[in-house]
Amino acid sequence: MEEKQTLICDKCQVEMADMDVQFSYLNRSFRHKVKRCPICGQVCLSEELVTGRISAVEGLMEDK
Ligand SMILES: [Zn+2]
Repeated sequence: MEEKQTLICDKCQVEMADMDVQFSYLNRSFRHKVKRCPICGQVCLSEELVTGRISAVEGLMEDK
């Protein structure tokens, strides 16, 4: 049995779709797949993703 995580947009009541999004932070950019509503364009970022990415980028900065 496959357990697939599905997110529904609160506003539109439609399933959010995977989308490749480019982020930029401290003059660095990176791409990541996020869930995005195809109707209103709202994206869903997990806090884990955001904090994980940001600390990774900060690690790179300190590495200089
Ligand atoms: Zn929506």
